[in-house]
Amino acid sequence: MTGASKALADKVFEPVPDEFLLAGNWKHGAGPATSVIDPSTGSELQRVGHADVADVDAAVSAGAAAAADPAWRGLLPHQRAAYLHRIGAAIEGAAPRLALLQSYNTGKTVTETGALVASAANTFRYFAAVLETSDEELTTPRGPYLTMSVHEPIGVVGAITPWNSPIASDAQKIAPALAAGNAVILKPAEWTPLVSLALARIIDETGLPPGLLSVLPGRGSVIGDAIVGHPGVGKVSFTGGTTTGRTLAHAAAEKLMPVSLELGGKSPTIVLADADVEQAVNGVLYGIFSSSGQSCIAGSRLFVDAAVYDEFMERLVAKTQALRIGPGREPGVQVGPLVHHRHRDSVARYVDLARSEGGRIRCGGTVPDDPRLADGAYYLPTVIDGLSNDARVCQEEIFGPVLVALPFHSEADLIAQANDTVYGLAAGIWTRDYRRAWRLARALHTGTVWINTYKQFSISTPFGGVKQSGLATEKGRTGIRAYSRQKSIYLGMDDAPIAWAEN
Ligand code: NAP
Repeated sequence: MTGASKALADKVFEPVPDEFLLAGNWKHGAGPATSVIDPSTGSELQRVGHADVADVDAAVSAGAAAAADPAWRGLLPHQRAAYLHRIGAAIEGAAPRLALLQSYNTGKTVTETGALVASAANTFRYFAAVLETSDEELTTPRGPYLTMSVHEPIGVVGAITPWNSPIASDAQKIAPALAAGNAVILKPAEWTPLVSLALARIIDETGLPPGLLSVLPGRGSVIGDAIVGHPGVGKVSFTGGTTTGRTLAHAAAEKLMPVSLELGGKSPTIVLADADVEQAVNGVLYGIFSSSGQSCIAGSRLFVDAAVYDEFMERLVAKTQALRIGPGREPGVQVGPLVHHRHRDSVARYVDLARSEGGRIRCGGTVPDDPRLADGAYYLPTVIDGLSNDARVCQEEIFGPVLVALPFHSEADLIAQANDTVYGLAAGIWTRDYRRAWRLARALHTGTVWINTYKQFSISTPFGGVKQSGLATEKGRTGIRAYSRQKSIYLGMDDAPIAWAEN
């Protein structure tokens, strides 16, 4: 453990002010309040008052005015980019505090939350760079005119994020949306509003013009719903579960509003017989058990060549049992608690279901017996096999530290099983044979494939799901375009009048 992360682990929780950023002002929520808990102990960290539907109205009006104001709309790209650079630097300046706050609220290890904070800062910097270097297009003319395709802001954009990696998913929406010249209304998840409120304060202090960012805590069914349905909101970018995403898409269809949906997954991780076993075991463990499996891209279905299945599983199970479990702020912890006791119970129900369907629990399958962890939302890293790919635990997203393993007998059998899911977010392949890896990567119906690595991200590489894992992509140079409207302009060059009207 580095000196910096040791210092983090020793710090105590500092509450954030129970106020949210609305149209340039800080307001105490008049709606119901959430009891925000520390999932490593179950104790209340603080309460956060919810915004209400009238606050959504106010945020939309202020956002529309701020986005239309020439002081924002008229900025040249490098001038707008300067705001994003300042935000990136301010996040970096507050990194230890933000990482600790997110670790308290989500249970994740400080190493993980530190990486998420760094990623948030870099996301603002990256989209500043994209903004400054994006060209508008001069299209090939088919007549006596100059034709251009330009990108313009949408106006007010809604951003709805889940609880698993709040600061990174907030930044992935706020940064490109601001870069494209919009105002943003962010609704963080009810369980994890703290780091989003802290981020709002940091952004506000950088001098972003009032109204361009509002952050409204509250329930998805109230605040989220009001944002999606509001006639003044021109686009919603959503990250969350597939069921919620579908509900949002229905509501958006009523308004004919574009939505970007980053949804759930049940990603296959594939171990071929020639894989470097040590690398593959570590990669599979990291892919499923880091963040306690609460990751959309968790490699939650493991396919191992039947020829090496028994040997591989033995090593995997032994290493799983040796993972260090504890509070995310404790030095050396690899697996923290789940985000909430209610979520832990839902994970436990899936393992019970696997048992009742004849699954073999190779390890885990219960809460830890360490009395120190008794009050936290912990669940032991669990490996299950003996089920077929159509079992519910092989098909449904559990979003916890639960890995289901299946043998495969041929490449055709593997591809059929790996693609036999409604999801299409990610996949991993472990092999020394790059030709075979390439063939498999092209055959898998997923948005991302990792070969001999897993769960690695780069802001410059687009990310998104196919099938029921999502619509559209985030990140990459095109990420900014998701928050723009494309307009075509024809500039006439002919001196003669249009002949048709001659008489
Ligand atoms: P969720 O229940 O779908 O909630 C996501 C967000 O939507 C929350 O802020 C939630 O608010 C809000 N919401 C709920 N109902 C809504 C409605 N009717 N209208 C508008 N907003 C509504 O998901 P979650 O349990 O927080 O997160 C876990 C899921 O996110 C998993 O499925 C995971 O795979 C997915 N995820 C996907 C990605 C990706 O990039 N593909 C990344 C991370 C997570 P409340 O929490 O306040 O109800």
